[in-house]
Order: sequence, then structure tokens, then C-alpha cells
Amino acid sequence: MAEVDRMLAANARWAQQSPGGQPARPARAVAVVACMDARMDVYRILGLEPGDAHVIRNAGGVVTADTLRSLAISQHVLGTREVVLVHHTRCGMEGAEDAAVLDVVERATGVRPDWPVQGFADVEEDVRESVRTLRACPYLVSSDVRGTVYDVDTGVLREVR
Ligand SMILES: [Zn+2]
Repeated sequence: MAEVDRMLAANARWAQQSPGGQPARPARAVAVVACMDARMDVYRILGLEPGDAHVIRNAGGVVTADTLRSLAISQHVLGTREVVLVHHTRCGMEGAEDAAVLDVVERATGVRPDWPVQGFADVEEDVRESVRTLRACPYLVSSDVRGTVYDVDTGVLREVR
């Protein structure tokens, strides 16, 4: 059974209890930028309910051009003001060498991607750098940006200063 078939079956149960009718604007006016890591249930980790926040996820939870695009729309179209970054321990992007990742893709497909991989050497330093990048971004209205690291083993979320 393909995963999508399991998902469609699960959704048939979900749709019977889905609240619906919520506004598109996040109730808590916050956007979260987080890694796509499968171990992180961002809503539970942060105490969020559906409708509370935008959750923007990618490999590493890094600030890419598309992260900025999504945050600009989140703030200017949908009214969010705070940004919270969530990196985590034992992330696959920590220590990932850009060239090595690009080599893997090129060997498998014959095409070398033109995007940066954005691996990082130190998770806390990448959080700090991401916070600085967002605070300096001319397209965003708020400098209310804070960064965290989630420990995938203990479940503890720690703010990075
Ligand atoms: Zn990760």
C-alpha cells in the first residue's frame, strides 16, 4: 500500500472531526521556521494548535530565499509579527558538506543542483546567524526574532542567545 493511500484513509477519519471555519491569519501572529526532521512534532513541541502559527519547514530549518518569501507573505499578507527558529540536536544538516551533498545528487541524476545546500558546522552558531539574517532582512517588518535548539532525545527546547 502506498503511503498516500494510508494517508487518504487516515484523512477520512480526520475529516469527521476537523474543526474547519478558521481564519487564515494565525491566531497567535507568529511564524515558526523549523527543520523538516521527522522526529519533531512542531505543534506539540511548542504548544501550538492548528490555526495558531505559520510553520515553515525545510532541511535544517535554515533561512533560504524561499524562507524569506514565506516570512514576507506571513507578515505582510497574514499579519504575523514574531518569528521563532527551531533547529535541533543530531540534525542531518550539521556537518553536511555542500560539495559532498551536491556530488551525491549529481551522481544519481547527472545534474548538479545550482542551489546552496546550507549545511552548517555548529547548530547554535547557525541559529545565531539565522536570527541576525532575519533581523537584518529589509522585507520583514519585525525584528522580533528568537532562536532555539530542540533536543530530540530529551524533548527540551532551549533558547539560543
Ligand atoms: Zn534537522
